[in-house]
Amino acid sequence: MVPDVGSGSKDGDSTEGAAPRPKRRRSQPLKVANQIPQSRRKEIEKALEDAQGTPKRWSRKDGPKYHRFLRKRIGQGKVRQIEFDLLDVDIGESWPIPITVVHGARPGPVVTLLGALHGNELVGPLALTYLCGPNFLGEDKAIDPAAMAGTLRIVPVVNLPGYRRQSRYMTDGRDLNRSFPGKPESNTTSRVAHRLWNEVISGSDHLIDLHTAAVGRTNMPQIRANLADRASNRIARAFGIETILDNVGPKGSLRKTANEAGIGSITYEGGGSNEADPESVQVAIYGILNVLRSLKVLPGYPSRPRFRILASGSVWIRSDQGGLLDVLTPAGSFVEDGETVATVTDPERPGDSYDILSPTRGLLISTATHPFVNAGTPIGHLLPVTRGVRTLRKRLDPEGCLVTSGSDGEPPWREDDDVEDISVAGEWSGGSPDAEWGRNEGDPADDEAGEADPNWA
Ligand SMILES: [Zn+2]
Repeated sequence: MVPDVGSGSKDGDSTEGAAPRPKRRRSQPLKVANQIPQSRRKEIEKALEDAQGTPKRWSRKDGPKYHRFLRKRIGQGKVRQIEFDLLDVDIGESWPIPITVVHGARPGPVVTLLGALHGNELVGPLALTYLCGPNFLGEDKAIDPAAMAGTLRIVPVVNLPGYRRQSRYMTDGRDLNRSFPGKPESNTTSRVAHRLWNEVISGSDHLIDLHTAAVGRTNMPQIRANLADRASNRIARAFGIETILDNVGPKGSLRKTANEAGIGSITYEGGGSNEADPESVQVAIYGILNVLRSLKVLPGYPSRPRFRILASGSVWIRSDQGGLLDVLTPAGSFVEDGETVATVTDPERPGDSYDILSPTRGLLISTATHPFVNAGTPIGHLLPVTRGVRTLRKRLDPEGCLVTSGSDGEPPWREDDDVEDISVAGEWSGGSPDAEWGRNEGDPADDEAGEADPNWA
């Protein structure tokens, strides 16, 4: 099943024979931008003013015929699976990872999609494997490079050694997403980062890096981007979900390093590590399709959220006591000032319990999932919301959680147990189900005339 991506039509360039399409979407998304201070807003606006035109190499006339990648040439309208070694060695483990390159029939931007930079974060591998599969654009609609502009580099699992060990880290215990751009003669993680940076990331125009929360917590779907970076701002909004955290990213992170090199880059966060959270996967797929449509890599129209929360600050809620945690308001909850978000109990002191209250009204974008807490353990990550509250409340489910755009459509997959069988009783009377209905007068003699005639559809 394809996630609901709104009015996106498959054939955006052709209007022949189709109903006239609306010129604009129904309403502009409301901005709940009060979280961004005035000074930062000016900075962002200034960055967006420096508009550049479309690069010449994307024009139909001057675009290259081939996409060069890892010393290979991928022809127009072609898909190739390429193996890339994370380490350059003659003997021993080189950690080859699969990369799918889809080179469109028309010139356009190079968009790189990455999963599992942290090896135990499975939302990226699941979403990207799905996108590489037969249902990219819906049931039985694999991606069609002939209908595509630009190039996709899809890397479902970047940190292969971490993924195999179900660990966030590389084998030397270092964090790959704090090691960019890396060095060729340094430690293992730094070498891998250096090779990735120079061979896989370089030459990209845009980057979408898919993550989940680290062990012990879970994130509601959200985008992190430096909104003062023009190309990042564009794809952060184009992703089409409500919550965007405006920051430059940690030192050594791929996102920050990419921005410094002029590559528009966003991080998607959804769900927790070591789990296959279908809703977060669904939102990731929805967002990627929105970005690709917005960049005109894919035909069709991107969906947009009803509103956006552009946040440049947040509050960590911490426990002041130790014990066992019970979170009452899951990630995505809109909580009131003073609302009890969790309780802590201690098995050695039955009957005693301690309430953790929200310090302000806002959206809880992350919560702890691990029950063991000490004094000082963070149990929630809160975006204070002061304006746009009424708008936000309209998108809350009955439990008070924000329904992120893209999460309320059809799930990207369904277990067989989830499919309800509906019995229709009766018998095959008056002819078998395979019996022919006879040919239309005047139709060419063709057994499939019924299917070929549009009046039968
Ligand atoms: Zn991560």
